[in-house]
Amino acid sequence: MKLTDSIQYLKGVGPKSLEKYQKLGIYTIEDLICYFPFRYDDFASRSIFELMDGERATIVGEVVTPANVQFYGFKKNRLSFKIKQEEAVISVSFFNQPYLADKVEVGKTIAIYGKWDAKKTAIMGMKILPQVDNGFQPVYHVMQGVKQNNLVALIKTAIDAGAIELLEESLPPYLLEKYRLIGRREAVLGMHFPLDEEAHKQAMRRLKFEELFYFQLKLQALRFKEKKLTVGIRISYDEKLVEAKINQLPFELTNAQNMALTEILTDMSSVSHMNRLLQGDVGSGKTAVASVAMYAAYTGGYQSAMMVPTEILANQHLESLQTLFPELNVGLLTSGMKPALKRQTLEELENGTIDMIVGTHALIQDSVSYNNLGLVITDEQHRFGVNQRKVLREKGMNPDVLMMTATPIPRTLAITTFGDMDVSIIDELPAGRIPITTRWVKHEQLEQVLPWIKEELDKKAQVYFISPLIEESEALDLKNAQDLYQELTDYFGQDINVALLHGRMKPDEKDSIMDDFKNKNYDVLVSTTVIEVGVNVPNATIMVIMDADRFGLSQLHQLRGRVGRGSKKSYAILVANPKTDQGKQRMKIMTETNNGFVLAEEDLKMRGSGEIFGTRQSGLPEFAVADLVNDYNIVEVARKEAQKVFEDKNWDTNPDYQVLRNNLSEIDVFD
Ligand code: ADP
Ligand code: MG
Repeated sequence: MKLTDSIQYLKGVGPKSLEKYQKLGIYTIEDLICYFPFRYDDFASRSIFELMDGERATIVGEVVTPANVQFYGFKKNRLSFKIKQEEAVISVSFFNQPYLADKVEVGKTIAIYGKWDAKKTAIMGMKILPQVDNGFQPVYHVMQGVKQNNLVALIKTAIDAGAIELLEESLPPYLLEKYRLIGRREAVLGMHFPLDEEAHKQAMRRLKFEELFYFQLKLQALRFKEKKLTVGIRISYDEKLVEAKINQLPFELTNAQNMALTEILTDMSSVSHMNRLLQGDVGSGKTAVASVAMYAAYTGGYQSAMMVPTEILANQHLESLQTLFPELNVGLLTSGMKPALKRQTLEELENGTIDMIVGTHALIQDSVSYNNLGLVITDEQHRFGVNQRKVLREKGMNPDVLMMTATPIPRTLAITTFGDMDVSIIDELPAGRIPITTRWVKHEQLEQVLPWIKEELDKKAQVYFISPLIEESEALDLKNAQDLYQELTDYFGQDINVALLHGRMKPDEKDSIMDDFKNKNYDVLVSTTVIEVGVNVPNATIMVIMDADRFGLSQLHQLRGRVGRGSKKSYAILVANPKTDQGKQRMKIMTETNNGFVLAEEDLKMRGSGEIFGTRQSGLPEFAVADLVNDYNIVEVARKEAQKVFEDKNWDTNPDYQVLRNNLSEIDVFD
């Protein structure tokens, strides 16, 4: 037998069942023995004296009265009898399982799994168990007609035939020793047939480490390969000039900004290639840090480019860069530019007249050549991926890359999804910011809030209203943007200008509405979630989010971040009637913290990683045993160890890593 053999050669697998197993993804012997239980039921018998009311447990006792079945109502019945455990007599009842009466025999010992009712000293039976010595029972995901018992039997057949002994150790001895991990064979066995809870725990720990370590190893291998392929540039920036520029800023950098900046400048001045993610809440000062980095590139004789998703943002950044660096030539490049101006810009980029440039995707199109591009910064939503880097590399450029994001990602996820990148975090807002106050109101309370909003509008404040839907939906009873727009127009009256913005509008149309809002031609903007993350309207101080329970915490936080950008006190109003406790809890957390990282962690805990990003969208892998939420310690350790492997110069000859090299050979990091 080999691990790669089809399971069809195992006793008990016929053509029909083979097909069923394959639907579960089980083709080979290895697939079979690595098909792990997703949960274990603890059927070990318990004493009633240690049980809590309502707890589910197995109780073993001696039957003391015969079974009695009572019928009532339509097809309803109740089986009851009494058992004795130690000195206590316990009533047992089963609903609608009259056939169980056959298993109840006075004087015999019986094991019942059910829910304990402490007040009545009774147990609500769920099943009668065959007498099990080891109460720890694996439960597998089964479907497609595969039965739990058959699967267990088949796994047992394979194991009895020696499948476990065919498994090879996949972790080097030094790691097994350092983290006291059990061997792969013992672990796989321990998943299916654990001797006790501890054995199972050790099996899980070992396999989670293996899974996360190999995942990180692959990411690090890719990164290693890219670093090897592409010698980055060393930007010898002028420290004195940069220092002076920092001192000229209209504010003092926060500690977190300083730390991030140091990390970035260190990367830039080293020959290796920078591939860094800069995370920080909206308004935490990422752009300020990025601007200083661009300036540093300039002092080192390099051009830099900042790529943003929309023209509005491009213009916004252009303005602020020009204000910060009046002595430099800052350019703008977007696809909507007039041809003549565009031609001139392209020329100046190529001959080096332009020192730094802001733009949309147009920045890396074919027609663009740079004189000396040293640094690319990308803003929100722009995944500056391997492909874009390739485009630039093919033009003979290999700039340092800094990606900024205001979507706080819990660290575990960041080093998993962006495992091939370094991460800097700005987790502190500049001093003196007036924190946004968030309130949660029910729909029926909105009426009480509107007069206050009207007063604020009369004082020239600007207000956002966000709705999850554009138009009426039959399926969902939610406030849609169009109706809301109509109602607010009527409510606020002639003196207040209300605009409507949604995703089905043409880009120009959206841009011009946003511009008009920014220029205060509108007082109220009713919108779906299309309003851009980076949009900056400092005069907007109230954000009302309708049906807020429809959004994730991170998204609510993003939306809320559109206000609180000026010197005036800002408010977020969450309008929601959540139906579940969890929904209520989520609204409450929003009112309690303004820290995006805390919210992201909460979101992750409450909804799981898939929900936040959509597994496919985020490129987050599905792990078989590991769980990113609960296993963050292992994620960290696995990443650290994977990094160490590739930092070892002798990694391709060191015998310690032989097993890793074998297992990674498919991503040819050695050529
Ligand atoms: P982000 O890009 O993270 O949203 P910005 O860099 O655009 O944040 O900063 C938001 C606002 O705060 C800008 O007006 C900027 O000038 C200002 N700012 C940035 N850093 C500081 C600081 N350390 N102290 C005071 N204000 C700051
Ligand atoms: Mg560099």
